[in-house]
Amino acid sequence: MCLAAITETGSRYSPLPDEYKGNGCAIARAIQLSAVRGDASDLGISNIGPVQCETAKIFIAWARFGVDRAARKILGSPVNRIETMGSYSCRNVAGTSRRSAHATAQAIDIGAFVLEDGRRIDVYGDWSGGTREEREFLRVVHNSACRRFGTVLGPDYNSDHRDHFHVEIGGRGFCR
Ligand SMILES: [Zn+2]
Repeated sequence: MCLAAITETGSRYSPLPDEYKGNGCAIARAIQLSAVRGDASDLGISNIGPVQCETAKIFIAWARFGVDRAARKILGSPVNRIETMGSYSCRNVAGTSRRSAHATAQAIDIGAFVLEDGRRIDVYGDWSGGTREEREFLRVVHNSACRRFGTVLGPDYNSDHRDHFHVEIGGRGFCR
């Protein structure tokens, strides 16, 4: 069902075999995503690893309807590529003994957005230091992620997130 829904979006991906790694870490019902269909052209997705299918489905909708459309409206250019900082990683939430959503491939870290016109808007440099439009764009896409994902963390949350947006399917609307 989930894979069929992703195929229907026109995104490019390969299904991945399940891997149960023990210690609360697993890649199950996951895909390797390479591009998301935008309104006019495909959005490349770089540096992403395995993502659990339901999480990928939300990410795909956000990339098209949240990110690409916001870029056209606010910055006057479609998005060419979303640069991630990874997805699956067998690790705990920093400073805790609790497994991160990354440990089950249910979280993605997003660092930057590259536009068709060549501009690169990155969370680290542009959240506070970008032009007025770049700062607005980053806040709009952060907010639209909050409407779709259960948990979204960015630079205003803590310094661990100064250079990326962490999005995950779990949680009940925790948005910082
Ligand atoms: Zn993260």
